[in-house]
Amino acid sequence: MSTIKRILVTGGAGFLGSHLCERLVSDGHDVICIDNFFTSQKTNVLHLLDRPNFELIRHDVTHPLWLEVDEIYNLACPAAPGHYQYNPIKTMKTSVLGAINVLGMAKRCGAKILQASTSEIYGDPDVHPQPEWYRGSVNPIGTRACYDEGKRAAETLFFDYHRQNGLNIRVIRIFNTYGPRMHPFDGRVVSNFIRQAIEYKRGSGDGISMFGDGSQTRSFCFRDDLIEGMMRMMNGPDDFTGPVNIGNPHEFTILQLAEHIIDIVGVTGMEITHKPLPADDPKQRKPDITLAKEKLGWEPTIQLKEGLKKTIEWFESIDMSEYRAPTPNY
Ligand code: NAD
Ligand code: UDP
Repeated sequence: MSTIKRILVTGGAGFLGSHLCERLVSDGHDVICIDNFFTSQKTNVLHLLDRPNFELIRHDVTHPLWLEVDEIYNLACPAAPGHYQYNPIKTMKTSVLGAINVLGMAKRCGAKILQASTSEIYGDPDVHPQPEWYRGSVNPIGTRACYDEGKRAAETLFFDYHRQNGLNIRVIRIFNTYGPRMHPFDGRVVSNFIRQAIEYKRGSGDGISMFGDGSQTRSFCFRDDLIEGMMRMMNGPDDFTGPVNIGNPHEFTILQLAEHIIDIVGVTGMEITHKPLPADDPKQRKPDITLAKEKLGWEPTIQLKEGLKKTIEWFESIDMSEYRAPTPNY
C-alpha cells in the first residue's frame, strides 16, 4: 500500500503552515495548501510552487470547498492579537465556519483531521503550568474573545464530530511559537522586538515597545520543534485525540526575552519604551507537556537563545520593506 497521502493544509501559506507544507512536500506527499493571504504572502511558499506534489489555492475557509483528501491540518486563522482583533467577527467566523467546512470535508472523505488550537483556550490562567485538564479562565466578552472563544468553539465542534460521526480527530494546543518566516509586522512579541531592535541598530525606529512592566511570562517554542510535535500527533495512535499541549516549558518574562534579543542583535544604548498592557493580557503562561512526552515521545530540543539566533539571522536577511503590514494594528 502506498504511504503517499493527499494532504490539505489550511492556512498553509502562513508562518507555521508554510513550514508544515515544506515538510510534507519533502516527505513526498501530495499537498494542497489553501490560504486567503490575510496575514501571509505567496513568497512563503514560492519555493514550493514548481514542485509537482504541491498545489496552492487562494480560498477563504469560511466558504465551503470540495476536495478529496486523506488528511487535513486546519491552521487557517489569524494568530497575532493585532490581526485577530482587527476584524473580530471575521476571526470568529474563520474558526467556527472554517472548522465546520473542514470537518464536513473530513466526514465526506473519511479523512483524519487535526486542529491547530491554542494555549489561549486557558485564557489568563490561574493554574500554572497549564495541564490539558484545566478548563481555563477566558473573558467571553473581552477583546481577545473572538480568538479564544472561536478556538474553544472549534474544539467543541471537533469533539462533537468525533462523538457523533466517528471522525478521526486530533487537537493540539500550541503555545507561543516563533521562528523564521514570522511576519515582521504581525505585532507578536518575538517578531516585534527583533524587528524593532534591528531597525534601531540600522538607525531608524524608536526601539523596543514593552507592554506593561515586562514581568508577564510566556514560554517560547521554536518552529521546528512545534512542526515535529504537530506531525507526531497526526501520525500518532488513533485512540489519542488530544487535546495535547505542544510548547516549550521554559518560561521567561517578557523583559528577559527583550534582554536576549538586544544581546543577540547587538544593540547598544537603546531605551525600552513601556506602553499600557493590553486588556486581558495573560500574566503567565507555561505548558505542562507531560501528556505529549508520554503519548507522542515528544519534547522540544531547541532552547530560546539558539532559536532566537536562527530567527534573528533570518530577519536580518530579508528586506522588511517588501512585507505589507496586514492590519494597522501591529
Ligand atoms: P499566521 O497568521 O502566519 O498563519 C495563519 C494563516 O491562515 C495565514 O496564512 C492566513 O493568511 C491564513 N488565514 C487566516 N484567515 C483565513 C481564512 N479565513 N481562510 C483561509 N486562510 C486564512 O499564524 P501562525 O502562527 O502560522 O498560526 C497558524 C495556526 O496556529 C493558527 O490557527 C493559530 O491560531 C495557531 N497557533 C499559533 C501559535 C503561534 O504561536 N504561532 C500559537 C497558538 C496557535
Ligand atoms: N508584548 C510586548 N510588546 C510587544 C508585543 C507584545 O510587550 O510589542 C507582550 C504582550 O503584551 C504579551 C506578550 O508580549 O504580554 C506576548 O504577546 P504576543 O502578542 O506575542 O502573544 P500572546 O501570548 O499575548 O498571544
